[in-house]
Amino acid sequence: MLPRERLAQYGEIRDYLPNRYAGDRAVDLPSDDTQLAFWMLEHLLDRGRIEPDALTAPPAPKWWIDTFVQRARPIEGDATVYRPRGDRTAKLGPLWKLVDEKLRHSLQSRRPEAGGEWYSGAYLLETVPAALRVLMYYGADPEEAIVRAVNDTKDNDTIAAIVGAAVGALHGESALPRRWRDGLSGRVVADVDDRKVFELLERAVLTPAPNSERGRGTPAQRST
Ligand SMILES: [Mg+2]
Repeated sequence: MLPRERLAQYGEIRDYLPNRYAGDRAVDLPSDDTQLAFWMLEHLLDRGRIEPDALTAPPAPKWWIDTFVQRARPIEGDATVYRPRGDRTAKLGPLWKLVDEKLRHSLQSRRPEAGGEWYSGAYLLETVPAALRVLMYYGADPEEAIVRAVNDTKDNDTIAAIVGAAVGALHGESALPRRWRDGLSGRVVADVDDRKVFELLERAVLTPAPNSERGRGTPAQRST
């Protein structure tokens, strides 16, 4: 807020103000800067030194919210058509708005339960926030992210499939536990052992995307 707007709304601030994230009590809450400072301290205490890869490799929790909202908002618009089932207090609104309000709120706690107030059933307004919340807190650790999605959500096959796709894209196949990769059947249909997943992936890798130069060779190669 601009200083004059803040002054008009709160007067001069000399003490804690009632905060909706603390049940309207006038207590301290960490700013995002304070959080960063203490996560850094935790990192130093755990590792004894600064390890840049560990600090910078995973996107920060806020990145998942910001990126989702940035991409989804122009597609969804502002139409007020959805209401999450498990949260009667939530306003009607598009998914990006729910993610923006509810997930940002959840940043106040360090590692909340994945399903949380969304019930995490087979319903878009529960599935997407639940998947994003797992990614926010466990996106740096592909195994733990999938384990949390499987164990902490209701519609766990759907949420774990989304989380698995995201951490796979982020970290690559080799970051997934060997025992899981070795156990893949490659089935598309539960009772047909045709290893079709692997066949489809192989075809996809060999098929150039429309308007893509991939697979066409260089201009020099094409002329020969
Ligand atoms: Mg499901």
